[in-house]
Amino acid sequence: MVWKLKQRQQKWLEAETGTVFKDWGAKFTIALAFPNRYALGMSNLGFQYVYSAFNRFETVVCERVFYPEPEDIPLIAQAPGRLLSVESQRPLQDFDLVAFSVPYENDYTNLVEMLRFAGIPARSAQRSGRPLVAAGGVALFINPEPVVDYLDFLFIGESEDLLPEFVDFLGQRRGRSSERSEILTDLAKSVKGIYVPSLYEPAFHKDGSLEGVYPLSPDLPERITVRRADLLQAQPCGTSVFTPNTEFSNVMLLEIARGCGRGCRFCAAGFLYRPVRYHGSSKLLQAVAADGAPNRIGLVSAAVSDHPQIADLCSSFLERGNSLSFSSLRADSIDSHILSTLEASEHHAVAIAPEAGSERLRRVINKNLSLEQIYSAADMLAQKGILNIKLYFMIGLPTETLQDLEEIVETAKGIRHHVLSSSRGKTRLATITLSINSFVPKPFTPFQWAPFAGVTELKQKAKWIQKALARLPNVRVHFDMPRWAYVQALLSRGDRRLSSLIDKVSLENTAWSQAMRASPLNPDFWVMRERKKEEKFPWEILDPGIERDYLWEEYGRALKEKQTPRCRPGQNCTRCGACAPEKANGIEIIKQ
Ligand code: SF4
Repeated sequence: MVWKLKQRQQKWLEAETGTVFKDWGAKFTIALAFPNRYALGMSNLGFQYVYSAFNRFETVVCERVFYPEPEDIPLIAQAPGRLLSVESQRPLQDFDLVAFSVPYENDYTNLVEMLRFAGIPARSAQRSGRPLVAAGGVALFINPEPVVDYLDFLFIGESEDLLPEFVDFLGQRRGRSSERSEILTDLAKSVKGIYVPSLYEPAFHKDGSLEGVYPLSPDLPERITVRRADLLQAQPCGTSVFTPNTEFSNVMLLEIARGCGRGCRFCAAGFLYRPVRYHGSSKLLQAVAADGAPNRIGLVSAAVSDHPQIADLCSSFLERGNSLSFSSLRADSIDSHILSTLEASEHHAVAIAPEAGSERLRRVINKNLSLEQIYSAADMLAQKGILNIKLYFMIGLPTETLQDLEEIVETAKGIRHHVLSSSRGKTRLATITLSINSFVPKPFTPFQWAPFAGVTELKQKAKWIQKALARLPNVRVHFDMPRWAYVQALLSRGDRRLSSLIDKVSLENTAWSQAMRASPLNPDFWVMRERKKEEKFPWEILDPGIERDYLWEEYGRALKEKQTPRCRPGQNCTRCGACAPEKANGIEIIKQ
């Protein structure tokens, strides 16, 4: 029966270009694990980057492994050890290191299940010998604490300069046999950005709130620095393995910038990846010359249109015969260059993100966007024949009232009106799609002190909007599931005590709702409580360079509906602290 599993992987390999096959020899072997299905993993630029970055080291072999396809799960679960790497189809126990790349908190349970499928004891304390189990990825440098009991160590931060130091460390230890505890202690002491959770212990107050997470030895760092890369020095991060079996099968994804200086107060990526950094256009143009790269380039960043050389970049790609797509566009930066690029690239749909219905609430979240700018973007797009507009909104934001929900409905109607009036009679082709998601207060943002709105309230709000827009022609509304947003809030705000719940869901196949009901822990304690200013957060074991006082001040400004202007990187700005020389780590920044 295992041949069926191998056959599926063989088919994936046959359809791919850019796969790396290496002899194992005496190399350090890494199973790079994605805690979700192949199609999702292969669409993830971070996962693709780490795969090619590890394989660039001569001393390392890196192979991929994915969470099984649903129909394969019974077969894999029958006998531990059937979870295989894609390239050489070896079981994970044959590798020196299993390294998970984790972009989303809701995949934590898949990570634990994958260890079970691999026949590797789930908890770090139960393991001995090979392989070591590690993880990295943005979910873990937002807040690693809920899953640290499963991991021997974590890569905290951006991989461009963290991975070379890790591989150097391996080189220095080569030939030395030692206990895993000795390797982990050395690693924690010698590589900045490596977090070994077993060397740190949390302490709690009587009321259950966190007192702190403390190192067990004075020569360990008190906080783990979130590593940041100098993008002006680094190679751009782009798709390296192409396959028709992903969502982005005909697109080469290419990261053009990291971070965002706009300061939207709900956005963890916007704060964690500060200061905003850009790849230079010449390196970006060179990067798409890879063999087998599709003609279409998907430009990726938090705000693609904010790149200081975006107009030149678009013209150069178009002149070379490429077509372009954008991961995100701000309504206030759609101009003639962007429009002609969209037209030349035959775009029929564009997404814009007002995020909140009213200008008042957009001031609260610091999404400095007026209704006029949103309507003007809709007009310009429709005049170019782009009649499918997707609008992203959130519900459950701090200070939200019924008036703000009414304005979501009015904004949708207004955009519909603008698109239809500018559509030159093609009204039947116009579609306005609202994607409405529940707000989750994320670590390291000004809203880290705010509570989650609650499943019942979010469901009521969603129902109200649904009813208000029902039967409006050309308008569709999609909602996320508030109960999954609750789980996301729990996993992104919790601490090590959550591992008993994660065990129940991943190792005993219990549904989240049942596991939470049966648990002595009260998940509302982490999810629904507004925190006091001084309360310690589990994620503060990490240091991303942003001052806590700055985030608190921003929370206060949010509640007073005050806007904060965008970042001023390279202009001696010290507002949030991320550009302070000791934090910026020698990073060069292009002036905006
Ligand atoms: S210090 Fe200033 S420019 Fe640098 S990231 Fe913070 S706010 Fe932006």
